[in-house]
Amino acid sequence: MINEKAYKLGSQRSAIRELFEYGKTRMAAVGKENVYDFSLGNPSIPAPEAVKEAFLDIVANDAPLAVHGYTSAQGDEATRRAIAENLEKRTGRKISPQALYITCGAAAALTSCIGALTISSDTEFIAIAPFFPEYRCFAEIGGGKLKVVPADEENFQINFEALEQSINQNTQAIIINSPNNPSGTVYTEETIKKLAELLTKKSEEYQKPIFIISDEPYRELVYNGQAVPFVMNYYKNTLVCYSYSKSLSMPGERIGYVLVNEDMDDWKMVYDAVAGAARSFGYVCAPSLVQRVIARCADVMPDLTTYKENRDLLYDTLTSWGYFCAKPDGAFYLFVRAPEGDGAAFSERAKKKDILIVGGAGFGCPAFVRLSYCVDTDMIKRALPLFKELMEETK
Ligand code: PLP
Repeated sequence: MINEKAYKLGSQRSAIRELFEYGKTRMAAVGKENVYDFSLGNPSIPAPEAVKEAFLDIVANDAPLAVHGYTSAQGDEATRRAIAENLEKRTGRKISPQALYITCGAAAALTSCIGALTISSDTEFIAIAPFFPEYRCFAEIGGGKLKVVPADEENFQINFEALEQSINQNTQAIIINSPNNPSGTVYTEETIKKLAELLTKKSEEYQKPIFIISDEPYRELVYNGQAVPFVMNYYKNTLVCYSYSKSLSMPGERIGYVLVNEDMDDWKMVYDAVAGAARSFGYVCAPSLVQRVIARCADVMPDLTTYKENRDLLYDTLTSWGYFCAKPDGAFYLFVRAPEGDGAAFSERAKKKDILIVGGAGFGCPAFVRLSYCVDTDMIKRALPLFKELMEETK
């Protein structure tokens, strides 16, 4: 006998991965240049030079036993100190290294937080559509449930009426993601304030804290200098899940962290529960070489020139042809309403032209498709006439 839930997850690829693998087969058949792969959120700009230099220098000059040895389960003290100092400078609040737990990316950070907060099979986590599809498996394999609040499809802020109706005695946390995958939306300060107000009211009503798990792998990927409100500054019962996968273009290195707000009641207990959940999943001592790189590069910021160019090119051209899409302020995705109102059907039509875009159902918005624009700009230019054809075929 095997665990049925685990078997299902392992034997069925996500829609995104499915499309990505299909793309590889098509590229082998018709040539790489004839396939327009907008499926995956794999950064298309290389890691900053400072990151490369740090890797080379650490491998060449640091003591090998330290570079390749175990660190503390929660991460090396120097790494956590560097991250805490960077966050202090940027958020204006006191953050101590003891509140950070270093993980293998945001995925491990999220599962550790969800594991820490899952009390029984009645425990509910709420995601706000559109949302990163993996939240469902993170919540369900942890033994709890994922509830989805329908999207505000005009601007992808939060539909507060629907959110309020979804909260009940079993609600443990709301998972938010801003800048958002797949819509690129950045939650405004007004949205975060309203969310904090609602959760404070509901926590009082149910006589228990309702947490925010703030999933922030795209925090640094914003265009036109928009501020991304730092959620802890608005709501004390907040856990931040962060990743360097996107900001430093190193998704394969698997590095990120959980930050627990030290202002929450019993914060150390919550931190220990996160550490305990992480331990139970085997997430102790994230790769020590990469931790050392982060200790040196915690202040490094990405150069967003290419992503911005790609965003503007795609957004301006597609909307000029009648496609509807909320202008993304961050991340590197465009969430476009399918002209026929059916994301899966549009994705299939696009696939016939070797354009790979993901249907929106898994993100909680079946009428939409997601395009990742962390791709070669030239590929976008070659694909655009085909998007025009797709729109014309609908008319
Ligand atoms: N959360 C969101 C919203 C994401 O888009 C991703 C990856 O694409 C993750 C979490 C997982 O990130 P990581 O690669 O750091 O595990």
